[in-house]
Amino acid sequence: MIGVLSAVGAVAAAGLSARWNWWRPAVTGGLPVLMYHKIGDFPRGSKLKKLWVSAADFRKQLEYLKDHGYSAIDFRDWRDAEKGVRPLPEKPVMITFDDGYMNNYDLAFPLLKEFGMKGCVFLVYETMEQHNAWHDPETEPWLKMLTWAQIREMQDSGLVEFGSHTMRHRNLAELPADEVRWELSESKARLEERLGRAVIGFAYPYGSGAYKPEVRRAALDAGYRFDFSIKQGISALPWAREKEPVRRLLIRGDDNMFDFHLNMTRGKARF
Ligand SMILES: [Zn+2]
Repeated sequence: MIGVLSAVGAVAAAGLSARWNWWRPAVTGGLPVLMYHKIGDFPRGSKLKKLWVSAADFRKQLEYLKDHGYSAIDFRDWRDAEKGVRPLPEKPVMITFDDGYMNNYDLAFPLLKEFGMKGCVFLVYETMEQHNAWHDPETEPWLKMLTWAQIREMQDSGLVEFGSHTMRHRNLAELPADEVRWELSESKARLEERLGRAVIGFAYPYGSGAYKPEVRRAALDAGYRFDFSIKQGISALPWAREKEPVRRLLIRGDDNMFDFHLNMTRGKARF
């Protein structure tokens, strides 16, 4: 909280820069879904530095959530609430990680455990135990992905639920329909076999296809209950599934706690 106040003070002193979204009225209710990729310090040669959030920053963000009374939920909590089994907590938040990097196990998982908060990780099936083969190594060096033993341990902790991020992280908006269906259905079936439970969350690689009606239809037809885009914002609850995929809040490596606060309360930090 002190961090937020001092950040607020710093921005006020700077004349309330128009770059920040401070003036928009706070969003009430809804489900903020945080979108992370890599936790840790970016490696030499990375041109995607903003997608690396340091462990120290991630800890501060979890502290913010705790101090502000948020409870982290997973896909199953949301499904149970929709089915009337158990209502959602008063201030729900979802903490998601795209791609399934080993740094999620090494650096994010211990902090989730420390804070007792749940996370959701979207896996690219064919890259597990290997590396981020879809990246050009000129842009992002090869990184280790989660192993099945790590995935099992995270799932068994009860704190991490896994979703699909396709088989190969291809751009679904540019694939023929039969390959889109294969990416969606094959990853779901293989993950379910590995994890021994239903896989109900899906995130579109690059956010691509999320707003292309035939791709989105295919994702829902494949049996995913929740599909996540990269469109910035906070989806209202109850979520209008027929209208659009779940929006998310991109947490960037160069965000400060004032950005985080604006994301959580306004659905957007900067312009
Ligand atoms: Zn991705």
